[in-house]
Amino acid sequence: MDLYFYNTLHKAKEKFEPIVPGQAGVYTCGPTVYNFAHIGNLRTYLFEDFLVRTLAYNGYQVKRVMNITDVGHLSGDMDMGEDKMEQGATREGRTAWEIAAYYTDAFREDLQALNIVAPDIWCKATDNIAEQIALVKSLEEKGFVYRTADGLYFDTSKFPEYNRLSHLPLEELKEGARIEKNLDKKNPTDFAVWKFSPAASKRQMEWDSPWGIGFPGWHLECSAMSLKYLGKQLDIHCGGIDHINVHHTNEIAQSEAATGEKFFNYWLHGAFLNIAGGKKMAKSEDNFLTLDRALLSKGIDPLAYRFAALQVHYRKPMEYSEDSLRQAEQGWQSLRRQLALLGDGFGRVDDAVRLEFQQAINDDLNMPQALALLFKVLKSDLSAEDKRATAQDFDKVFGLDLFRPLTEQNVDIPENVAALLSERQQARTAKDWLKSDILRQAIYEAGYLVEDGPEGQSVKSR
Ligand code: AMP
Ligand code: ZN
Repeated sequence: MDLYFYNTLHKAKEKFEPIVPGQAGVYTCGPTVYNFAHIGNLRTYLFEDFLVRTLAYNGYQVKRVMNITDVGHLSGDMDMGEDKMEQGATREGRTAWEIAAYYTDAFREDLQALNIVAPDIWCKATDNIAEQIALVKSLEEKGFVYRTADGLYFDTSKFPEYNRLSHLPLEELKEGARIEKNLDKKNPTDFAVWKFSPAASKRQMEWDSPWGIGFPGWHLECSAMSLKYLGKQLDIHCGGIDHINVHHTNEIAQSEAATGEKFFNYWLHGAFLNIAGGKKMAKSEDNFLTLDRALLSKGIDPLAYRFAALQVHYRKPMEYSEDSLRQAEQGWQSLRRQLALLGDGFGRVDDAVRLEFQQAINDDLNMPQALALLFKVLKSDLSAEDKRATAQDFDKVFGLDLFRPLTEQNVDIPENVAALLSERQQARTAKDWLKSDILRQAIYEAGYLVEDGPEGQSVKSR
């Protein structure tokens, strides 16, 4: 069956035609690991997981690459300001390398908690410096870069279709430029491919290059690593909508300028998770909620968030509220209870039902419709076994762990979990919140959710 995605490149739904038949190369821009991911970031990774699972459901062999940005992403997106990694290091009194390792682990745990299929290839910007330097060299040879006092810049006026992805006139792209400006830039949209270390201070992360000691511009890593790891399979590239006008636009320009070939055929972008009346959840704002704060600490299972995300199409904004998450958890629990009543017999998926399901997910990942179909099936007069088989089949895409055994609340707690709980109680008494959060995660991984209430910790199995 044909598969359709909304391609930002052409502002239209298009039939998916992979470069290599039967295979799909997918590059998903990963996190900047200077802090925890927030549930807004995680919404984007959930959408990408729905994508990867839909491709797999359609029989594609998926090769998915995700980068870890551990250097070079500056606090002002226009190549100015402080490196976010060094900012994180100052904030926490640790090295930038320690910060990167710590938040990379935390991120992987978040993905696991949300049942997000791990990428086939994880790659770090700092492990691919030579590849990034090689890319800049080839841009230099072709005359696309020029030197300023603070680094090497890509000359966007030499790349005629610079606004191909954003579909915006250049003047509007300019408006994105922040107050801090590099006055040596030839065009407001030009961006750094290599930044020099400041003369006055030493950076924690820096490398030698043909142009001087410094570090790669943020956009460069995704070009270098997608070309390296996906090679000729540049099918789908994704991220949140905030990446369209700058990050992905710059990736396209520098990659195509360097290789002379088309860089990715399909560009998919997920809308934001908003908070408090339409405001984007952002790491730089104080409205930022981690998985731990929004879910685990409230005793809400992370899969309830997954269930909530499935109910809003990925190109529509999603509003966060604690109430809506609690409702989602109830909905998810009640669905599991209904399924548990179906017994454990083996049935089959009705062909017409499977077709309808596949039509929904293949129509630009219409998960709300696919979920509605599951509820329709459960109300239908199909046999219990067939309903069960259908739910199991759909859950390959939903990833809701719908058949996880239901457990009663306040069950007997195993000794190792009891020990973790008591250690956590001590950490809380000592106001060691970081340790308390780490222990909460360990308790979660052991199968329990801990909640802090006026009477202290309470625990339930998940
Ligand atoms: P970052 O770690 O800032 O590089 O962001 C990681 C991913 O999260 C990117 O794909 C962003 O587009 C995406 N993102 C950032 N904020 C939000 C939000 N509020 N809702 C959904 N996605 C977001
Ligand atoms: Zn990227």
